[in-house]
Amino acid sequence: MYDVIIVGGGPAGLTAAIYARRASKEVLVLEAMNCGGQIINTPDIENYPTADHISGVEFATKLQNQVTNLGTEIRYERAVEVRDLGDAKEVVTQTGSYTGKTVILATGSENRKLGVEDEDRLVGRGVSYCATCDGNFYRNKTVAVVGGGNTALEDALYLADLAAKVYLIHRRDTFRGEDTTVRQLSQRDNVEFVYNSNVTKLNAEKRLVSIEVTNKDGSVRDIPVNGLFVAVGRIPENQNFASVVELDASGYAVAAENCRTKTPGVFVAGDNRVKDVRQLVTATADGAVAATEAVKYINTL
Ligand code: NAP
Repeated sequence: MYDVIIVGGGPAGLTAAIYARRASKEVLVLEAMNCGGQIINTPDIENYPTADHISGVEFATKLQNQVTNLGTEIRYERAVEVRDLGDAKEVVTQTGSYTGKTVILATGSENRKLGVEDEDRLVGRGVSYCATCDGNFYRNKTVAVVGGGNTALEDALYLADLAAKVYLIHRRDTFRGEDTTVRQLSQRDNVEFVYNSNVTKLNAEKRLVSIEVTNKDGSVRDIPVNGLFVAVGRIPENQNFASVVELDASGYAVAAENCRTKTPGVFVAGDNRVKDVRQLVTATADGAVAATEAVKYINTL
């Protein structure tokens, strides 16, 4: 039996692994795809203490190396259920099942979709959820970014360096993201803000050719674009674990700053937890807290 099973190999999960291994615990990390989580899509991290410039990929690679060098087992399997067996927890994956004294859910979040017709069909044909992954395909072309948070603002700034023209479409007239980035965007000649507007239709032949944008006042505009980058927030990946953790109305796992959930021995860390600030630094902090609490819990068994 493992001491700690960590579900999710992003910054929160891997930091939890460091703390649990350094406390001499047997640790299994279950990761559905690639270690690193969403930070691998960030071209340049500038707000992590001591790292004034590091790419997300480099950060994730260093973190994973640190974790494996500490002797952590990592398996690439998607966890689909956690069963509370009292003093033990069973984590069921798509291909197996593992038992641990504790579980740390560090599953992060997935992209929220716009919900317009043909959105799924046009992924890879003009619709993208990752500017840093796909931006290069739109060099000297026209793109739109939809959203008003930090992701949309940073995506628009990144794309402004590549594309001929960037429309930034937001459903309100003020942005949720940082003023500094808004100011940087407003200084770019090739960026146009489209306020109070929603993307209501995708027009495509084989690929996206234009988007229909509807203003709150009812007016409709057709904007020819080669690419649409959707950055309208994220949805926590907790759906499979609702039997062991309480979820709030938005699907975030309810846990206080000590990362303990309603089920003794089950902890939650990172972006899938109820919290005010979702940043790399708060995700890694959660990992440290959750692992420390897990070790405390194990010592009571
Ligand atoms: P977010 O902050 O939740 O923003 C989502 C944006 O999408 C909001 O502006 C929202 O509009 C809009 N939106 C939501 N649903 C929509 C819909 N159906 N149609 C049109 N617009 C919709 O999400 P995020 O930008 O992905 O950021 C997530 C977290 O990561 C945030 O805490 C953010 O600060 C953090 N982050 C930080 C950095 C950084 O510090 N460098 C970088 C990226 C992300 P409303 O404003 O009207 O609600």
